[in-house]
Amino acid sequence: MTAHRIHNFNAGPSALPLPVLEKIQASFLNFNDSGMSITEISHRSAKFDAVLNGAIDRVRRLLSLNSDDHVLFIQGGASLQFAMVPMNFLGPNDTADYINTGTWSAKAIKEARIQGKTIQVIASSEDQNFSYVPKTISCTPGARYVHVTSNNTIKGTQFDQFPETFEIPLVADMSSDIFSRPLPMEKFGLIYTGAQKNLGPSGVCMVIVKEAFLETAEQHLPTMLAYKTFAAHNSMYNTPPCFGIYTIDLVLEWIQETFGTLERMAEHNQRKARMLYDVIDGSGFYQATAQKNSRSLMNVTFRLPTEDLEDRFVAEALENGLGGLKGHRSVGGCRASIYNAVPMESVAALAAFMERFEQEKG
Ligand SMILES: *Cc1c(COP(=O)(O)O)cnc(C)c1O
Repeated sequence: MTAHRIHNFNAGPSALPLPVLEKIQASFLNFNDSGMSITEISHRSAKFDAVLNGAIDRVRRLLSLNSDDHVLFIQGGASLQFAMVPMNFLGPNDTADYINTGTWSAKAIKEARIQGKTIQVIASSEDQNFSYVPKTISCTPGARYVHVTSNNTIKGTQFDQFPETFEIPLVADMSSDIFSRPLPMEKFGLIYTGAQKNLGPSGVCMVIVKEAFLETAEQHLPTMLAYKTFAAHNSMYNTPPCFGIYTIDLVLEWIQETFGTLERMAEHNQRKARMLYDVIDGSGFYQATAQKNSRSLMNVTFRLPTEDLEDRFVAEALENGLGGLKGHRSVGGCRASIYNAVPMESVAALAAFMERFEQEKG
C-alpha cells in the first residue's frame, strides 16, 4: 500500500506523518473500543474529551505554555483569524501594527481595514518583491499588538528571529511553521495556525492566546467570533471539528515520540532545508527566490532558467514520484514544501532528482 505513496511536497493540505495515517486507518472503524469511528462518536463523550484534552496537553508541553494560556480550536481556517484578531482586540480608539511580508499578511491587513479598524503597516518587504523579511521595526506607541506572518508559504521567507516589540504583544500567523521549532512564548499575545500545513487536516485552526491578552478583548461580539467563547467552553461551545482535533493529537504524539522536543524537530528541519539550499546554491541552474538571510526552512522556493524548464521539472519530478513542486499560482516557479512530516528520505530523493535534472538539462 505504501508503495503507491509519493514523496509529497504539497504546500497545503500537505504531507502527514505516515505512522499517523496508519493509526487513523487502523482505528477508523472502531475508535478506542467505542464500536464507532472518531467521526461518529459524541463530542460530549468521555472518549472525545480525552482526545481534546490530550491534544491541548501536548501543545502545552511542546511549547512549555503557562497553565493559564489558552489552546483553542476554531473553524474557518487562518483566513477567519485575519478578521477575528482585529474584531476582538481593536476597539474604536485602538491601533495595531502590521508587518507586510506577502500574500497572507496582506490578507490580514485587508480584513482589519474592512472592519474600519485603525492599523499601521510599519514594515513591508514589498519593495523587493517580498524576497526578505524586515529585521528591524519601529512600533507605534500604544499599539495593541504587532501582527506578523512567521513563515511566508508562498514567497518562501521566514523570520528566524521575531522582531523586538518590547512590551507590545506579537500576534503571529504561524500556519506554515508551527511546531517546526521552539518559540519565545513570552513575546506573543496570540498565535494562530490553520492545521493543514504542519498540524493536521484542513477544517480546524489552532489558536494559542495568553490569558492577560484575552482579558483585554472586546465585549459584545457575535458569540462564535469571540475568543472568550472558545476559552470559556474549552472549544466546545458548539460541535468542534472532532476529526481534525483527533489528527492533531496524533501528529503531536508523533513529534513527541519521534523527536521529543522542538529543539530536535528544528535540527531535523534545518538539515532537510540545507540539503535543498545546498543543491540550489551549488548550481548555476537553480535560483533561490528568497534572500539568504530570510530563507524559509518550510517552503523552499526557486526558479529554473525558463518557464518551459520549470514545467518540465515539475512534470518529470512527478513521473519520478516527487509531487507538489509547482510554485503558487500567483508567483510561478517551483516550491518544495518540506514541513515537519516530510521525511529526510523524501528531501534526499528530491535533492538527487534536482542534481540529475540539472546535469541533463543544464
Ligand atoms: C495557508 C495559509 C493561510 C490560509 O489558511 P486557510 O486555512 O486556508 O484560511 C494563512 N496564512 C498562512 C501563512 C498560510 O500558509
